[in-house]
Amino acid sequence: MPAIEKLGAATRTSSLWSPDDVTVIFVLGGPGAGKGTQCAKLVSDYGFRHLSAGDLLREEQNRPGSEFGEMIKAYIKEGTIVPMEVTVQLLENAMKATMEKEKGNNKPMFLIDGFPRKLDQAHAFERSVVPSRFTLFYDCPENVMEERLINRGKTSGRADDNMESIRKRFRVFVETSMPVVDEFEKQDKVVKVEAVKSPEEVYEETKAKLKERGIEPIHLVFVKN
Ligand code: UDP
Ligand code: MG
Repeated sequence: MPAIEKLGAATRTSSLWSPDDVTVIFVLGGPGAGKGTQCAKLVSDYGFRHLSAGDLLREEQNRPGSEFGEMIKAYIKEGTIVPMEVTVQLLENAMKATMEKEKGNNKPMFLIDGFPRKLDQAHAFERSVVPSRFTLFYDCPENVMEERLINRGKTSGRADDNMESIRKRFRVFVETSMPVVDEFEKQDKVVKVEAVKSPEEVYEETKAKLKERGIEPIHLVFVKN
């Protein structure tokens, strides 16, 4: 994935793309709600491109020579939100790289996972990159998410999958990220899915809800030579 050369995406006053050029669906839900799991399924059935804001930040954090590495590390450990200029720029760069690579293909469709987690990010992205089509919101109670994260922590190697960071991430989610969901809700731009059941059952509900919004799986046609 491309590194950051310079910031600036977030300060643009008009959007880089229009929703006619590219479809963006934000995927939100508390830590451990299952966003990444559901996104992987959606990628294989719908042809979405999946961009995880957290993964892009971790990649930038680990990139030798990154001037943002130390800062990102500190924010992630604390479960707080990295200043949006960095995250918006990383997302824009990743979208550009994908679109460049797939030029001439069908209209690109992105799932942007774990973003926007704060109102300023939501506003900056929609103003300067592209307005989203809607937000897929995975709704899950904290006790279920907590259990999943503790299990994930046994193998994920993530610095923030420990009890102390998990508690902080829950707080940030409720106080900082839920207002984003609430704002999109008022614009009728939230598709809510219950995320407590098994990944397969949650996925069935996801597919049904996407269909209601006019989004269908791609049907692969096998041509016999
Ligand atoms: N993060 C951020 N801005 C974003 C997305 C993520 O600052 O837009 C940071 C934040 O510190 C968060 C961490 O990255 O707690 C991990 O995010 P990720 O999406 O990987 O966590 P998940 O929701 O999958 O548990
Ligand atoms: Mg994730």
